[in-house]
Amino acid sequence: MPTEPALAMRGITKRYGPVTALHEVDLDIAPGEIVGLLGHNGAGKTTLMSIVAGLLRPDNGQVRVLGKDPVREPDEARRGLGLAPQELGIYPPLTVRQNLLFFTELAGLRGRAAERRIEEVAEPLDLTGLLGRRAGRLSGGEQRRVHTAIALVHRPPLLLLDEPTAGVDVQTREKLLSMVRTLAAGGVAVCYSTHYLPEVETLEGSVAVLSGGRMVARGTLKELIRQYGDSGVELTFSGGPPDLHLDWPVMRDGKVLRITVEQPHLAVPRVMEALGDAAGELVNLRVVHPSLDSVFLRVTGRRYDALAEEATA
Ligand code: ATP
Repeated sequence: MPTEPALAMRGITKRYGPVTALHEVDLDIAPGEIVGLLGHNGAGKTTLMSIVAGLLRPDNGQVRVLGKDPVREPDEARRGLGLAPQELGIYPPLTVRQNLLFFTELAGLRGRAAERRIEEVAEPLDLTGLLGRRAGRLSGGEQRRVHTAIALVHRPPLLLLDEPTAGVDVQTREKLLSMVRTLAAGGVAVCYSTHYLPEVETLEGSVAVLSGGRMVARGTLKELIRQYGDSGVELTFSGGPPDLHLDWPVMRDGKVLRITVEQPHLAVPRVMEALGDAAGELVNLRVVHPSLDSVFLRVTGRRYDALAEEATA
């Protein structure tokens, strides 16, 4: 018997005045599935999560969180989900334990049961030693871990993490990724938005790509790479790229030329020959193999590292 999805979205449209932030978006997430939600700034990721969490109403379409409608049955739907939005939601004057206790009590736990639950969420996020510290005095990465722990104290079967690793160091990132994997292995459905494609590869989840409010790709990593993962040669020049006459498709993007070819390493000598004198202006040559990077380029028209730069700017 097929399991009911933890999240089911059908035909979701959301407008902010003249801006259509989401356009007939469908998204299902099964229990235990991790979905890497990708897209450039303004693609609609936060809007999508806010609709799932019942913080925004869609103009059209249907959402079900564990079978509940976040608009009509907000309390029931909310009980089943944990949301860690982009903006930190911690109480700086309180200790980490008091922050967690507040939300544990909201979930109906008291006394020893509440303490046990706090220890349970603190451990994988490496917060155990920080429980007595004032939240406002912690580092940015530590605060982000507290923020994530808050989303988890009521053991939600559906977890929405909106850029949980934005601005954190490598160690914190590893901890968060490992925690997400453990939760998914225990059956939690996770929607994970990020500007870092390698994280999605590490999580071995499936992928959903939003572009201009439309879901332009959805599937497992393998499926998408098979369907869209071009290989090729990418040339970066110091100035405007020359005109190249080759048998393969050549795409221009500022100072970059992308040549789509099945066996890029074999094509490099031909490309160099075609460059002639213009080779003097070449500052970088990259062989691109089919990967999430090339999938992203094909479905959105832009590279992902441009987007990681935007995210850290
Ligand atoms: P980022 O990666 O920058 O967080 P995002 O993919 O989360 O972006 P959203 O925040 O969902 O994107 O925004 C989608 C679109 O809707 C953008 O064009 C944005 O400017 C617009 N938008 C979002 N919130 C509002 C609002 N409250 N009023 C008007 N326009 C909005």
